[in-house]
Amino acid sequence: MSDDAPLCARCGSAVTVNRENYELFERMHWLCFHLEFEHRADVDAPCSHQSCPWFVIEALRRGLIDAGLDPTVIRRQAIARRTATTE
Ligand SMILES: [Zn+2]
Ligand SMILES: [Zn+2]
Repeated sequence: MSDDAPLCARCGSAVTVNRENYELFERMHWLCFHLEFEHRADVDAPCSHQSCPWFVIEALRRGLIDAGLDPTVIRRQAIARRTATTE
């Protein structure tokens, strides 16, 4: 992370990943912009916006189930892989 990264107008932490879109996103993280201006639901639930992270997670979860896969097993595998690579 760069020490001179601009700070998010909503949460106050450094904006690094979407730094090139800092002004476009009203000087916020993309997620903070979404929650501030686009998300019209409980912040812990999906909204109707097509790029809402909760909506995307739910769509992928349903897709895994439709494909005959268990999202819980896949999540456990991902956690195990992450743990293995960080040790
Ligand atoms: Zn933020
Ligand atoms: Zn949303």
